Amino acid sequence: MTEDIYSLITHPDRQSPEDVLTAAIDHYGDRIGLAMSFQIGGVVLLDMIHRIGRRVSVFSIDTGRLPEETYTCAERISQQYGIEIHWVFPRHEAVETMIRKKGLYSFKVSAENRKECCSIRKVEPLTRALGAYDAWITGRRTDQLVTRKELKVIEDDPVHPGKIKINPLEHWNRDQLWEYIHAHNVPYHQLYNEGYLSIGCECCTRSCKGETDERAGRWWWESPEHKECGLHISYQGGSGI
Ligand code: SF4
Repeated sequence: MTEDIYSLITHPDRQSPEDVLTAAIDHYGDRIGLAMSFQIGGVVLLDMIHRIGRRVSVFSIDTGRLPEETYTCAERISQQYGIEIHWVFPRHEAVETMIRKKGLYSFKVSAENRKECCSIRKVEPLTRALGAYDAWITGRRTDQLVTRKELKVIEDDPVHPGKIKINPLEHWNRDQLWEYIHAHNVPYHQLYNEGYLSIGCECCTRSCKGETDERAGRWWWESPEHKECGLHISYQGGSGI
């Protein structure tokens, strides 16, 4: 952990997400990136960065199974903020081998298969993308999931040793994000209008009207304790990289 950035980010005078973003971007310069999956946290962070007059490189992982609405959202955001999104793709050999051996829907068969698919389509590309940075910014929040209750605004990345994760929205809730989006006319993913609370791959995400658990629509066939894809925690047993 780099002590000076840790003190900088957690300083009592630096409570707002904008303050955290300013300190982190000024500290890391072009060695920090914003991970974007086009969910509400990510678009709010991008808008905040725009408003504080900073620029940051934005990257996104195209798993090959994203919904069409994710691409249209990406285009709108790219045009509105005048940014280029750095898309990162899985290694095609790994995807082809998995599909040849296990079929197109292996992730529905077992948690182990699901983690293998997330590992190939998400975790490995993320690891490659992070090679360009010392730190990355995420839209994660403590109220999203049982596995995120201990989230801190700045933390060592347990999956990518030596990298720092900055979570400026750690103490925000979903209502605050929507208030910000409407107040600032921020473009957002259209699947939210269809009852989605969280958005990922098309085949592993569904609408969940009436639910309060934000991740209820993700891997709905699994228990809540397992609803991480390996981007933020290492899987037990070592298969999650
Ligand atoms: S969310 Fe589903 S389709 Fe996407 S990488 Fe994970 S298991 Fe595969």
